[in-house]
Amino acid sequence: MSTLEKKALEYHKAGSPGKIATAVTKSVASQDDLALAYSPGVAVPCVEIQRDPELAYDYTAKGNLVAVITNGTAVLGLGNIGALAGKPVMEGKVVLFKKFAGIDAFDIEIDETDPDKLVDIIAALHPTFGGINLEDIKAPECFYIERKLRERLSIPVFHDDQHGTAIVVGAGMLNAVELTGRDIADVKIVCSGAGAAAIACLELLVDIGARRENIFVCDSKGVLSTARELTEEKRAWAQDTQATTLSQVIEGADVFLGLSGPGLLSQADVQKMKASPIVFTLANPDPELRPELVREVAPDAVIATGRSDYPNQINNALCFPYLFRAALDSHASTINQEMKRACVTALAGLARADARFGKDYVVPGLLDERLLSEVTPKIAAAAARSGVARKPVDPVAYSARLAAL
Ligand code: NAP
Ligand code: MG
Repeated sequence: MSTLEKKALEYHKAGSPGKIATAVTKSVASQDDLALAYSPGVAVPCVEIQRDPELAYDYTAKGNLVAVITNGTAVLGLGNIGALAGKPVMEGKVVLFKKFAGIDAFDIEIDETDPDKLVDIIAALHPTFGGINLEDIKAPECFYIERKLRERLSIPVFHDDQHGTAIVVGAGMLNAVELTGRDIADVKIVCSGAGAAAIACLELLVDIGARRENIFVCDSKGVLSTARELTEEKRAWAQDTQATTLSQVIEGADVFLGLSGPGLLSQADVQKMKASPIVFTLANPDPELRPELVREVAPDAVIATGRSDYPNQINNALCFPYLFRAALDSHASTINQEMKRACVTALAGLARADARFGKDYVVPGLLDERLLSEVTPKIAAAAARSGVARKPVDPVAYSARLAAL
């Protein structure tokens, strides 16, 4: 076992096992306090909430509570390791919600792989929470599960592996395109991978101006073409082309987007791309091609990875805490396209406003303190504008409140 592996086990085991605990937020020092916290006093907020469900945000923890839910079918790069084995990751996600946005979260590992049953279980659990973060559920089931839950529930349901990735990729892409003097409407994009993350990224890139006819996608069997039998999600990206391999379609591409697996891009492929290529090799932990090898053949490329040991880390933690913070504070019924777009623009803007802005700084760093106070209000404003905020926030007061957190 490596030093890191040993350390990780010790870290999780030391003291109170795992990474989280609950905290009590009211005084429970006296008999009187207990009579308010529990019976008989507790019946009063119950009756109030029965009369007006919105009051759950005033009298319970619902308004600051998110469920981090998995069935363990696509955990990190570990694959289908099952619900219980996924728990350390979900506890980790709870930690990030708290650290970055002060949001309380419960991890919920559900031992169920049938999509309809999972939807029913999650829907039945939803009253507890102000929002639901779906995590590490495999494609293509994740698309169906999220869609069904979004239709059924009037709280945000957000599959972070899809949309969190997409938003940060979108922000980095806007800046990479700007830095290399391109127009997003004209770029030819080649995507390796057609799973949860890739499909969501491509949808978002189209939403912010890329054109579908300029996008070519490869899965493990090659280029998605109209000649192939494909799932519904993949069919939407099929091109009428004779090309079957990545190295064929990458000819003349402006952008490579890798959300597939290690080593799937070669230096020869990069050499076929246009000058100053944009190369996002996001397979974790080992990218489609290591940045130093991309750099060898394309010295002026804009390169991003999912890793913290290279510049331009595409990390979902740049967005999900702030999206949920804004959604919860606005009592938003959903996280919609307008909110996601606002997050993309705000993240891209933060990087541009920094003196470091350039090819090695297209997205902010994870610990950038401006994220909470500057990105969140823009998402909340988008929720208000688009009509999904049941309690829109006052922008000025809200920014001040966040800055003081
Ligand atoms: P996923 O749903 O399992 O999708 C993986 C995709 O890769 C599938 O479409 C698969 O093809 C494709 N693939 C496998 N082998 C391939 C090959 N030889 N050539 C081309 N495509 C191939 O997984 P995901 O959640 O989307 O994640 C994909 C990768 O992106 C992982 O490495 C993950 O760590 C990384 N990721 C990074 C970030 C980040 O940096 N922030 C965020 C999310 C994901 P089939 O459809 O044919 O099976
Ligand atoms: Mg994940």
